[in-house]
Amino acid sequence: MHEQINVETTKEQVASWDKKYLWHPFTQMKDFVNEEPLIIVDGEGVVLRDINGKEYIDGISSMWCNIHGHRRKEIDNAIKGQLDKVAHTTLLGMSNIPSARLAKRLVEITPEGLNKVFYSDNGSNAIEVAIKMAFQYWQYKGYRDKTKFVTLQYGYHGDTLGAVGVGGIDIFHTVFKPLLLKTFIAPSPYCYRCPYDKDKAACSSECLGGLEDILSKNSGSIAAMVMEPLVQGAGGMIVHPQGFLSGVKDLCEKYNTLLIADEVMVGFGRTGKMFACSHENVTPDIFTISKGLNGGYMPLAATLATDEIYNAFLGKYSEQKTFFHGHTYTGNPLACAAALASIDIFRSEKVIEGLEPKIRALQERLEQFQELKSVGDVRQCGLIAGIELVKNRETKEPYSWEERIGIRVSYEARQRGLITRSLSNVMVVMPPLSIKISELNNMMEILYESIECVTEKSCYIHTI
Ligand SMILES: *Cc1c(COP(=O)(O)O)cnc(C)c1O
Repeated sequence: MHEQINVETTKEQVASWDKKYLWHPFTQMKDFVNEEPLIIVDGEGVVLRDINGKEYIDGISSMWCNIHGHRRKEIDNAIKGQLDKVAHTTLLGMSNIPSARLAKRLVEITPEGLNKVFYSDNGSNAIEVAIKMAFQYWQYKGYRDKTKFVTLQYGYHGDTLGAVGVGGIDIFHTVFKPLLLKTFIAPSPYCYRCPYDKDKAACSSECLGGLEDILSKNSGSIAAMVMEPLVQGAGGMIVHPQGFLSGVKDLCEKYNTLLIADEVMVGFGRTGKMFACSHENVTPDIFTISKGLNGGYMPLAATLATDEIYNAFLGKYSEQKTFFHGHTYTGNPLACAAALASIDIFRSEKVIEGLEPKIRALQERLEQFQELKSVGDVRQCGLIAGIELVKNRETKEPYSWEERIGIRVSYEARQRGLITRSLSNVMVVMPPLSIKISELNNMMEILYESIECVTEKSCYIHTI
């Protein structure tokens, strides 16, 4: 029997279909099917509403991608307008208006020198493109042995195999090891747990020395360094000390290595500037963006490259230097139209200029979190923050996996009307840039209470 259409589905039905048919990403399904699922029905601004009518602040920007809030008239209308023309046509050997207009806009707003835009449809694919571009570039330049990559410990660049191959998070990556690229892993400037046991005050960027060791010994076999500039996201919102990015760029130049800057998370205003690389005036050779690109509406990504990279691929058809990569939905016109509207909002509402007071308000609220006994470290960059919970503040002993501390705090926050998601023991704060200061205060109040409740009052013991 087919499902009857036009009959309103009950929330019990939706929940049962979900549990029966859906396999959720990054989710232990054995736990998930035993819980009441959160089912979102609609949203407006920074607020999402579930199937029971309960409202939540979207504290993680719907997985770090929403920028201007939900149901933005301008973006909705841009998509509807394009839909009245054509929904999708290919970029393989032909073009369309939104893709070309957006490429021009992206070259204008990204760091100087990135002049060519290659589209794909998610952050992982933007990285696949970057890796293949870097590899192929050196093949054409006559450096056939430059085939390997360097990444930072705790680095995250997506879940496809190439992207996992340049990742540095053991828990996500270990199981796939036999399938992956061989990658050098350089130390991360994770100051709270400094790999060189230095105090922040006594730091002289020893981590850069670790990278230089790798590059100086292996530059003949290294194609590129891949890194998240300023903040390593999925690795635990690790905020880098000032000067680290430009230090990496200098070393890449010194050792004839390309720099791939992955701005999939930090791009589009999160750090307080449009792009993270601008904080240190760095132009990488290859640059990836996705999450905030069209305000978090639809799948879209781009890999930008310098003329130097692009020109290496030019030649006679018979030379077969073509960049052999492309997806069915590469440069989808609806997604590009949404991106143009989103970038217009940055300008018309002076979004970047308006961030300063919000960033300061967040900083003030974060200071109070030090009062909580379980808070080991608080780190912030722009409107991004990570709050690392520890079992023992003196020894920095982490909570064990069994304690599921981040999950329990997130669950408490949800009861109080905040959607958040931890990165193991690190609580993530990443609201849409459009959040009002009153909403931000509300969000931080809920987060504070939830941490206090789970770690100091044991007011809720999760049963699973
Ligand atoms: C999320 C993320 C990716 C992967 O993007 P998807 O769209 O999830 O494939 C890559 N790099 C960084 C820095 C990210 O945060």
